[in-house]
Amino acid sequence: MEPFQLNDTTHTLHLKKWESAYPGLTAGFTTRWGKESTASSQTCNLGLHVGDNPNHVIKNRQGLADQQGFLFETWTCADQIHGNKVTKITAGQIGAGRDSLESVVADTDGLYTTERGVFLTSFYADCVPLFFLDPISKAIGLAHAGWKGTVSLIAREMVEAFSREYQSNPEDIYVAIGPSIGGCCYEVDERVMQQVRMATSQWEQAVQSSSTSGHFMLDLRHLNQLIVKEAGVLASHISTTHYCTSCRNDLFFSHRKDQGKAGRMASFIGWKEQTT
Ligand SMILES: [Zn+2]
Repeated sequence: MEPFQLNDTTHTLHLKKWESAYPGLTAGFTTRWGKESTASSQTCNLGLHVGDNPNHVIKNRQGLADQQGFLFETWTCADQIHGNKVTKITAGQIGAGRDSLESVVADTDGLYTTERGVFLTSFYADCVPLFFLDPISKAIGLAHAGWKGTVSLIAREMVEAFSREYQSNPEDIYVAIGPSIGGCCYEVDERVMQQVRMATSQWEQAVQSSSTSGHFMLDLRHLNQLIVKEAGVLASHISTTHYCTSCRNDLFFSHRKDQGKAGRMASFIGWKEQTT
């Protein structure tokens, strides 16, 4: 069954199984469509770095935070440089990057925390959104994994950070792999493949031949599954979407399909403040 369930009212996808199992947890992914009452236009671009009017983007972000039950002041995001660094968010960094590119968590593609009342976000238009949860320590995290982040093992970095910072046992960690370009649509060349072959000894499971000579069809989601399993996460704890952002351009922005002129969707995760 598809782990990301679409809410037709809010136009957001939710990791229903996680949200039902762990009350107070919100985890999901936006689509290209916004909530009518708050979206500046029909589309819901959440990235400040793609040349859109910043006021519209901030309004869309405020709308999303509000809709998901978080204060916009707690929206926290990174600059995403296609690296493999993951950063622990402590009380002093909450709200970083919410309304300007200058205030983002720098040099970072992954964010994690155990703080409650923090809305962690990360931006996408084809790259792979990774979600992490350790129900024992209550650690939550998001990682942005394009091909570069994937082959530099950002998924493993997050599992190791949970173990180091929160004494998480990898076997307790849950991972979800969200909407992103699928092996059906992601053609890469030998330059990328050289790195893919070094990422995991099982890389062949994630690659198929292409009709173009010297090119390959790469399944980044499958590659990330292999990497988190090697990091000690149980196969039964990994949920992977079926949504391809390029095939489903009606629902998602796609960097490749929109020929580089795409808006950005957001992955989000957070523990709501306790009300009692
Ligand atoms: Zn596809």
